[in-house]
Amino acid sequence: MKLEAEFVTSAFALEDCPHWRRAEVALAGRSNVGKSSLLNALTGIKGLARTSKTPGRTQSINLFAIGDSLALADLPGYGYAKMPQAVAQRIASSMSDYLEHRSNLAALVLLIDSRRAPGREELELAHAIRARGLTLIVAATKCDKLKRSERARAIAAFAPLETPPILCSTLDGEGIEELRRRILALA
Ligand code: GDP
Repeated sequence: MKLEAEFVTSAFALEDCPHWRRAEVALAGRSNVGKSSLLNALTGIKGLARTSKTPGRTQSINLFAIGDSLALADLPGYGYAKMPQAVAQRIASSMSDYLEHRSNLAALVLLIDSRRAPGREELELAHAIRARGLTLIVAATKCDKLKRSERARAIAAFAPLETPPILCSTLDGEGIEELRRRILALA
């Protein structure tokens, strides 16, 4: 079962986001964390992630309607080293505005490479979501790259987030169904 997703709009600021009652689930992560691949794996729309990678849309919040009562908000990737400082600041401020004030936001799916520990940005995003009493879901991406012996250590490295990660791989499909279930439960 896939999430039937339909691209609705790109928003550069909170005011540009649609006025609807859908519960929104935001996805955030560093550039290259595997967010587009995960969006593709979760949804039934081919090229959905490409929509989010279209030049001009990589710095915006891309909104997708899912069924009748849910929406996904693909937040811009952050932490790209070559990004001009001014652009990085604009993205950070539109993201925090969205996460702190979007009234129909239900949850944040925070994507972190399973070979890394959460960094300052991720801890701040997690804190912002908890401060509002919203749901935090942590997806540890590219877990196929972990050796069996490295999995426990990888999970332990995520402890500062105080939410057990879902180990995910778009290569072998691990964790995708669980993540989809957790998202659908928010509708
Ligand atoms: P985004 O920048 O966060 O949207 O990341 P992409 O989805 O474009 O993926 C970045 C790179 O990681 C690409 O080369 C993908 O092929 C690779 N990648 C994405 N997901 C996985 C995964 O689950 N396992 C592995 N091994 N590689 C992945």
